[in-house]
Amino acid sequence: MKIKKGDKVKIICGKDKGKTGKVLKVSPSTQKVSVEGLNLRTKHMRPRKEGETGQRIQFPAPMDISNVILICPKCSKETRVSFKILKDKKKVRICKKCKENF
Ligand SMILES: [Zn+2]
Repeated sequence: MKIKKGDKVKIICGKDKGKTGKVLKVSPSTQKVSVEGLNLRTKHMRPRKEGETGQRIQFPAPMDISNVILICPKCSKETRVSFKILKDKKKVRICKKCKENF
């Protein structure tokens, strides 16, 4: 996965196109990401007890990973990443713009 939890991403299509946010959740099996405050959906909660009112909860709906682009934490540019294996076998991502690994 090129995108990880905690990454900053920019939405490149849909109603939130152009907005940026932090990745809250990545689902490798479905190739979807949830981004903080973006692609919000409203869920209606029915009242559980008599006398309670129903609640509306907003939550970021997962969106396709191809709809977002990573923002490099080093150069703050929208970028694509490539991977590199370090001497200690650690896999790191490399920004194609500034060539920094992160
Ligand atoms: Zn960079």
